[in-house]
Amino acid sequence: MNIEEYKEMRIRCFNMRVSKRKTKNGCILWKGSITKNGYGGLFRWLNGERLLAHRLAYEIEFGYFDRKFHICHKCDNPPCVNPQHLYAGTHQENMRDVALRGRGRKPLRNSIRSKIKRKKVDIKHAIVHNIYSDYEVQTVSLPAWATR
Ligand SMILES: [Zn+2]
Repeated sequence: MNIEEYKEMRIRCFNMRVSKRKTKNGCILWKGSITKNGYGGLFRWLNGERLLAHRLAYEIEFGYFDRKFHICHKCDNPPCVNPQHLYAGTHQENMRDVALRGRGRKPLRNSIRSKIKRKKVDIKHAIVHNIYSDYEVQTVSLPAWATR
């Protein structure tokens, strides 16, 4: 399979799993597999590739983007794949928007809190990662010391 065929197949697989009707907010919902945080995706696709649906939606509509960008939802609806509801943001922008929308208020887990104490890690840093682990599964995970 060449790269063009590969891209075509990705789009076909994507389109098969997208709702034909929009919600009243204009969201287009993903009908395929969903992560535990609500993001749609093609998991174990082809050679075990893991594609997040909203990132794929953005790429299909607007073309290739640098992998360092987060694709964020203006509508705050994780399974939405309407490209008009998506924007590419940096880590900081995403953090700010999550905070503005009132997410990420989850208290730190006790196990993490005790590890912070032990490791004398900057508490802000830990909070950032805790919010993130809730928000975007693929791109950010807890640092190794927090999960040990
Ligand atoms: Zn939406």
